Amino acid sequence: MADAPATLNPAQLEAVHHLSGPCLVLAGAGSGKTRVITHKIARLLQAGLLPKQIAAITFTNKAAQEMRERAKGLVGPRAAKDLAVSTFHSLGVRMMREDGTRLGLKEQFSILDSDDVLGVLRDAGSCTDNAMAKRWQWTISLWKNQGLDSDGALRAAKDDDEQVAARVMKLYEERLAAYQAVDFDDLISLPLKLLQRDAEARAKWQDTFRHVLVDEYQDTNSVQYELLKALVDHEDDRRRGLFTAVGDDDQSIYGWRGATIDNLKRLPQDWPRLKVIPLEQNYRSTGNILRAANNVIAGNPKLFEKKLWSEFGDGDPVRLLECDGEEHEAERTVAFIQGLRGQGGALADGRQGGQTNFSDFAVLYRANHQSRVIEQKLRAAQIPYKVSGGQSFFDRTEIKDLCAWLRLLVNQDDDPAFLRAVTTPKRGIGHTTLGKLGEFSGKWKRSLFESLFSDTLAAQLGAKAIGSLHEFGRYINELEHRARHTQGSEDAKALLLEWLKDIGYEQHLYDSEDSEKLAASRWSNVMDFVDWIAKRCGGVITQEGGTFETEKQTVLQVAQTISVIISLAERGDEQDVVTLSTLHASKGLEWPHVLLAGINEGLLPFKSDAEEMTPQRLEEERRLMYVGITRARSTLVVSTLRRRKKGRETVQGIPSRFIGEMKLNENTVKEDPRERLKRLRTELAARAAVPPPP
Ligand code: ATP
Ligand code: MG
Repeated sequence: MADAPATLNPAQLEAVHHLSGPCLVLAGAGSGKTRVITHKIARLLQAGLLPKQIAAITFTNKAAQEMRERAKGLVGPRAAKDLAVSTFHSLGVRMMREDGTRLGLKEQFSILDSDDVLGVLRDAGSCTDNAMAKRWQWTISLWKNQGLDSDGALRAAKDDDEQVAARVMKLYEERLAAYQAVDFDDLISLPLKLLQRDAEARAKWQDTFRHVLVDEYQDTNSVQYELLKALVDHEDDRRRGLFTAVGDDDQSIYGWRGATIDNLKRLPQDWPRLKVIPLEQNYRSTGNILRAANNVIAGNPKLFEKKLWSEFGDGDPVRLLECDGEEHEAERTVAFIQGLRGQGGALADGRQGGQTNFSDFAVLYRANHQSRVIEQKLRAAQIPYKVSGGQSFFDRTEIKDLCAWLRLLVNQDDDPAFLRAVTTPKRGIGHTTLGKLGEFSGKWKRSLFESLFSDTLAAQLGAKAIGSLHEFGRYINELEHRARHTQGSEDAKALLLEWLKDIGYEQHLYDSEDSEKLAASRWSNVMDFVDWIAKRCGGVITQEGGTFETEKQTVLQVAQTISVIISLAERGDEQDVVTLSTLHASKGLEWPHVLLAGINEGLLPFKSDAEEMTPQRLEEERRLMYVGITRARSTLVVSTLRRRKKGRETVQGIPSRFIGEMKLNENTVKEDPRERLKRLRTELAARAAVPPPP
């Protein structure tokens, strides 16, 4: 997947060679923006920068790994290994790990994931209503992404609900401080605070990174932009503003999470020397696909005028599937994949010959739940697939159990992790004991772990209870010591397996699951998890697209980053499987053959009964459609449902307005009768392969 060195067009070359000041590449989908970043890395090395002086920031961990992989093809494995390629969040972890103490954070702080945050919020706001706690979570996160703390939020609160949320935020902040924990938003805002308040730290980090490159710039939020700015706002005029951002305002799809297109508008104002470079040639899609994409996005007001053309010729027409319902759609999806695989082969424009692989296909949809029926039919037809952007591997109970243990090793003051670890598996420490421990720790303002060894507490608890607590405490201390000193994949694996054995985790799974099969599958996830950590400790990361090396790490180091680096996709080795993905998670990627599923009013544009469709929301949904269409290189199928399920009901399906906006003419969608017959046959076969419902 490495990019060949010499293939850049003049506009791309201009962006790659512009080294003396800030640069923005603003261009449509598939125009080679990400390619500019990888090639610019090579150029910067050539110009004398060391790999570790180049920071490349991507939107997901997976994209970061792919970026490193591509860079490897250009600059070799040695240099690629030292590049600072990461997401904003993992960059934040690195900065906080090195300098968090300067903000009063202890060295081994822990990182709460979204579930932990929800738990803390429920607790802080004494609330049993999950939906309410989730709303607080959203509101607080949006505030944090606007750079507000709870005092600021209280002033900004527009109504009673927001006032309550702001007060809960205050308690939340206090708890996080007490637990020595940070949430994901803090991973951006704390480094920013560091750079803004601490001149010495600012000088150090500005000196560390001599050039910062940002992919998918349109989806940064304001705190991320401020962080970028702080990193490159050097005092020395010659070194100020050395960054390259690439992005596409038409692909901004994270507005709901606080990303703001204002960041794009602000760039030329904040950086008068900004060089803005448009790219116009699309190297991904055929003419028919590109036209459909351009037609759809034309419905949005333009921030920047962009042209996009392709040299590939029209290619196959974009195909529209009208399906009776979800089941039918899933059957036709299977038929689509089998049909094209059966044909073997070349893309419409003749770019790629040979066998069509499963990995050449993606099925994209707006909402996670849409994958379920499709998964069923794919399984029945024995088509291998992976689901990305859905429930993450690391959201599974068994993995979270173990992560709680690891977090406790990293930071013994992490009370939520303590509570989970001390009770999973059960070790004879009951509610009464934990209640007393909690009371004690609250009274003396100490963490649970710290309180556990106190003599005063011992006087209040029975000998048995205190014995079990001490045993647990000693075990954690010992494990921490070993995790701190164990690196390399084999030693790490041995340590992890021993730990699981010590705590009896496998038995715990079999005791707590009704079915043995389920317990076995959970245990196999645990083994995957162990391998995953062990590999990282050995400095090897395998994923789609290849394997690359980073530094060896201790188990403790890997444990600290765990909540930040994880997704199922990252775990996967190179596999020949069909991708099922949400449209959001498909950003930046491409496949030869793409099917967009459930393109209906209500699904895309997505609309829940409770909320109103504002013009801004509609525009964001349209951008999602644009992102979906432009993932396809050669074949694009758009599927719509005549009837669709909505909760327990079945309602009439209305084709999405975006289908009309694609302006597919009659000719483009009509199927060749022979093709149609062939497809019908495969469809029937697919249907036959599915056992009838019980
Ligand atoms: P997106 O907006 O979806 O993120 P992008 O602008 O980042 O797209 P890339 O992913 O960099 O686009 O490139 C799209 C495809 O075009 C890739 O397969 C890439 O290898 C190819 N490509 C880019 N530039 C060139 C070029 N100058 N010559 C040949 N192929 C190119
Ligand atoms: Mg890209």
